[in-house]
Amino acid sequence: MNKNEKILVTRPVLPDFEVYSSYVKRIFDSKWLTNQGPLHQEFEGKLKELIGNDDITLFCNGHMALEAMLKSYNFKKGSEVITTPYTFISTINAIVNNGLKPVFCDIKLDDFTIDETKIGSLITDKTVAIMPVHVYGFPCNVEAIDKIAKKHNLKVFYDGAHAFGVTINGKSIYNYGDATMASFHSTKLFHTIEGGMVVGNDGYLHDHLTILKNFGINEKTTLVEESGFNAKMNEFACAMGLSLLPELDRIIETRKEKVELYYDLLESNKGIDTFKPKEGVKWNYSYFPVIINDESGITRDELFEALQEENIFSRKYFYPLCSDNDYTKVKEKDIKNARYASEHVLSLPLYPDLEDEQIKYICETINNKVKVLKK
Ligand SMILES: *Cc1c(COP(=O)(O)O)cnc(C)c1O
Repeated sequence: MNKNEKILVTRPVLPDFEVYSSYVKRIFDSKWLTNQGPLHQEFEGKLKELIGNDDITLFCNGHMALEAMLKSYNFKKGSEVITTPYTFISTINAIVNNGLKPVFCDIKLDDFTIDETKIGSLITDKTVAIMPVHVYGFPCNVEAIDKIAKKHNLKVFYDGAHAFGVTINGKSIYNYGDATMASFHSTKLFHTIEGGMVVGNDGYLHDHLTILKNFGINEKTTLVEESGFNAKMNEFACAMGLSLLPELDRIIETRKEKVELYYDLLESNKGIDTFKPKEGVKWNYSYFPVIINDESGITRDELFEALQEENIFSRKYFYPLCSDNDYTKVKEKDIKNARYASEHVLSLPLYPDLEDEQIKYICETINNKVKVLKK
C-alpha cells in the first residue's frame, strides 16, 4: 500500500470492459441512443424481476425521479410533506420544487432514519405526505410509518437512493410505501453513470411517469397532457446498468467483508460508535458511518482534518442539515438528534476495491487519534 496515495471516500465500480463494449456494440448497430430503446426495455425488465414489482420507471437521475414521483400526485401547492433534515439536499429540493413545504421531523440515533414516534405531532390539515429516507441503506420503520399514513390518509414516498439491494424479511425495501425512488449515480453502490428509478406500489404509476419524463407528451396519442420535463434514461446508461447488475451480489458481499474488517478494528475504541442493521434486514453496506462520540476527546471536525493530513478522505455526510438553508429555515424545530448526528458523523472510505491494508491504515490512524480503549 502506498501511503502517498489518497484514499477517497468512494470510487465507482466499473464492469468488465468487454461486457460493457458488447452492449455498446448493440447500441451502435441499432443506432437507437435514447427514448425507451431496446436496452431500456431490457434493463427495466431485469429490475422488475429483481425487485418483484412490475411498476418500474427509469429516469436520467435519482433527483428527477424524486421530482416526478411527487409531481405525479398533483398535490395542492403549499401542502406539507413531513421529511427528515438528515439527508442529501435533493430530497428537500424535490419537495420545494414541486411547490410543497418540507416539515422536518427528528431522527433516531441508532440508525439515523426518521423517528416515527415524532411524525404524529407534526401532522396538520395541510399535510399530504411523509417522505422518509432509508439513509445509508438502513430501512425506516416501514410498518409503523404505514400505520400512521393510513390513519391520517397520507401518502408515503421513500427516498431509497442508498437502499438498492436492501431487503426486509426477503422482500425488497422498494416495495414499501406508495412509491420509492432509487438513485443510480456513480457514487452509489450500483450505478448507471447517472440514473434513477421510481418503484410504485400505489396502483400503476408507470404510464403517468413515462409521460412526465417525456415533456408531458403521451406517445400513444401524441398529445401533450401536462407540463413535464426531459428526464429519460439513455441507452449508454442502460448498458452500464445491464453490465453491472450481474455483479450486484458480489459488490454487496465484498463491501460486507470490508465493513466487517472495520467493525473488528474499531471495536475496542470506546470513542467511536459503529452501526449495524436491525433484525431481518439484509443490508447493502452502502456507506460506513461512524459517530465520534462524546468520550472520544476529539471533535468530529478535528478527526476529519487529522485523517486528511494522513491522506484519508472521509466525508461529513450529512452536514450541514437540510433544515439550515435559507429557503428551508423554519422557526421552531425539535431536531436535536439530527443536529447531533450532523455534528458527530463521519462516513469512512468504502468501496469494493478498497484494500484491506488501507482499512487497517485508516483504523490505525483513527485509533491513534482517538485513544479511549474499552476495558
Ligand atoms: C444521491 C442522492 C439523491 C439524488 O440522486 P442522483 O441520482 O444523484 O440525482 C437523492 N437523495 C439521496 C439521499 C441521495 O443520496
